[in-house]
Amino acid sequence: MHPFVSAGLLALVTLFHGQEGPTFDIPRVAGANWFKGNTHTHTTKSDGDSAPEEVARWYKEKAYQFLVLSDHNVFTDPQTLSRLVDSSFLLIPGEELTSSFEKAPVHINGLNIPRKLDPQTDTTLLGTIQKNVDEVRSVKGAPHINHPNFGWAIDKFTLLKVKNNNLLEIYNGHPLVHNLGGGGKPGLEEVWDFLLTSGMRIYGIAVDDAHHFKGEFGPTRSNPGKGWVVVRAHSLNAQEIIDNLEAGMFYASTGVELEDVIIEADRIEIRIKQRSSFKYRTDFIGSGGRVLSSSVENRAVYIVKGDEQYVRAKISDSGGGAAWVQPVFVRTN
Ligand SMILES: [Zn+2]
Ligand SMILES: [Zn+2]
Repeated sequence: MHPFVSAGLLALVTLFHGQEGPTFDIPRVAGANWFKGNTHTHTTKSDGDSAPEEVARWYKEKAYQFLVLSDHNVFTDPQTLSRLVDSSFLLIPGEELTSSFEKAPVHINGLNIPRKLDPQTDTTLLGTIQKNVDEVRSVKGAPHINHPNFGWAIDKFTLLKVKNNNLLEIYNGHPLVHNLGGGGKPGLEEVWDFLLTSGMRIYGIAVDDAHHFKGEFGPTRSNPGKGWVVVRAHSLNAQEIIDNLEAGMFYASTGVELEDVIIEADRIEIRIKQRSSFKYRTDFIGSGGRVLSSSVENRAVYIVKGDEQYVRAKISDSGGGAAWVQPVFVRTN
């Protein structure tokens, strides 16, 4: 059994205290279970080094509960790997629609799509992104925008104009994607705060974008196990997992595990799963990327004030890992 699946996780309690003043826009209840997964991985069907079955097996053996095989412009039907699928491991069909505008790579994942989709091109960068997002939506799939800083391709002002897209990679495990920005270019958390502050409801995911399952595991290699999401849901069902991901009912991680996230009308409480002797700091972050408060307690609590616009949390551990709790939006009545 996955450690998150326990009776103690009857979480995200949606109590309303009836108080006046600012309140959080409480997400709908999404079930008591947490499911760990990765939505971006490659195989030998494009530029990965291992066959789809080996890749899926790697994740299954590491206790991931769902996986999207997202090869470049190649669709892998999960039916061909059905022997790996059981009540604790789900393959969600997908593809990385791999296009470009001029020299800028434009890579959009399509999650839970029924068949292969063709990458789309356009006469502008925004148009190229939008057409690929629309292509995924046209078959009722869920898009996510991949590694915006890869090739320094997609700037924040362009991202702000994209419609019908709810998910953005804020961490990608590939060594060449510049998650942290640099040289005057913003990192992806800064980009995310810009979008949120501008009024966009967009959620930040962490992914592996793994290519290298063989040979050395190291910082210059595109190995699995670097970034993932943990989604709240009733059951391990592809449509429910994807719907809840798109509704922000998850946290993203590069190492920190959470026991629970409890959102009430006036407060957020984060319960961290203690790992051996690790220490933790939780930063609650609001409009403009401002750190609203920090806590070294485990249970980190934030009480709404009213001027935050949104509140998200980043939990950093003493080993360099992090978890990102998705933004909750503030209603000022
Ligand atoms: Zn890519
Ligand atoms: Zn990729």
